[in-house]
Amino acid sequence: MKILVANLGSTSLKYRLFDLTEDQETMLAKGGFERLSDYGAAIDSCLEEIKRGGWIARESDLAAVGFKPVIARGVTGCVRMDESVLEAMEAYNGIAPAHNPPYVHGVRRFAERLPGIPLVGLFETAFYQWAPEAAMRYAVPESWYRRGVRRWGFHGASHKFVAERAAELLGRDDVAARVRNLYVDGGQTPVREPAFRMVSCHLGGSSSITGTLNGLAIGNSLGMSPQSGLPHNNRVGDLDSMALPLMLREGGLSLDEAERQLCKESGLKGLSGGFNDMRDIMVQAQQGNAAAGLAIEVLAHQVRHWIGAFYLELNGLDALVFTAGIAENNADLRADICRNLDQLGIVLDPDRNSQVRASEAVISAKDSAVRVLVIPTNEELVIAREVKRHLLNEQSEN
Ligand code: ADP
Repeated sequence: MKILVANLGSTSLKYRLFDLTEDQETMLAKGGFERLSDYGAAIDSCLEEIKRGGWIARESDLAAVGFKPVIARGVTGCVRMDESVLEAMEAYNGIAPAHNPPYVHGVRRFAERLPGIPLVGLFETAFYQWAPEAAMRYAVPESWYRRGVRRWGFHGASHKFVAERAAELLGRDDVAARVRNLYVDGGQTPVREPAFRMVSCHLGGSSSITGTLNGLAIGNSLGMSPQSGLPHNNRVGDLDSMALPLMLREGGLSLDEAERQLCKESGLKGLSGGFNDMRDIMVQAQQGNAAAGLAIEVLAHQVRHWIGAFYLELNGLDALVFTAGIAENNADLRADICRNLDQLGIVLDPDRNSQVRASEAVISAKDSAVRVLVIPTNEELVIAREVKRHLLNEQSEN
């Protein structure tokens, strides 16, 4: 089954083409286009490239196109991206202004270009559908809540990928099967005792922490929008709500300028004095740039804060997983995050930790009660897998 996964940025389109069979998952091709003013030409070029490469003979060879949309009103999970879903995304343009409008536009272009090919999206919020309500509410008036002001949780594709993989690696095939079937049976796949408790740390250009109990998410550090939780590369993360009126009334900023600074000039970039890539921040810190050193410390502190929150809710931990660009590559940061946690059963093996870069490995010491793992994430593969499951499920229902 050939599935094209399209990642739509505000001015970019990246794609990967997968062939998923009963027993093999192969990535056939990947590519991308930047600085787009319209998706139409990029979609044409993408289809040309995969035809020229011989991966498909004609467009109807595609079983589906898969997407990773962020958020929609009243819709989540893995769904067909029909007009009603696109309108539900538009209803939440205000929550994800950088993501939803270009996404909706791009999907409509695909629908025009590929009539008859299923377009299927896995929402980033999908993984949090079963999280306890108390973990997902802000203490705001009901009228705010009705507008969507609540925690939603994001990075669902990545956290789902590592939840399934960690369970497999640690011999919990029952939990892995539940995670695999999540959007087909709504988390009903039975699991055995004892409970499997996990925290996953996705630290990349944007970052989040998720707790899972027996494969079901109990919460995520990202809240109403992808702007919250941990400090991101250039986005602020959690912030006291009075900071905004303060900077409008006394800091001389317009609302638009304050929003721009919170979305583009904050996070690690704001703290470090202008560096938004962790590799540059690390070099700066090593050269004695105190602001860059502080940016790393703040990130590690916030990560520990969220690990602690889920550790308590889960009544302990079986697995702590690091994934995405920063966490997969940066052994020093992993060591900082795991420092002085032996009384909680978290002990790294320093040698193993320092050797691991962007590869799958257990990095905890032999006597660590909590297994600490590095698992490179693969969000596009998750999308392709979920699209395949969705199509097979649709066929079995018809
Ligand atoms: P995104 O959230 O954009 O998908 P990624 O998971 O690709 O992010 O992570 C990107 C980030 O990973 C970059 O901003 C960079 O700071 C960090 N990164 C990548 N490689 C390394 C490395 N070798 N060491 C430290 N950080 C790295």
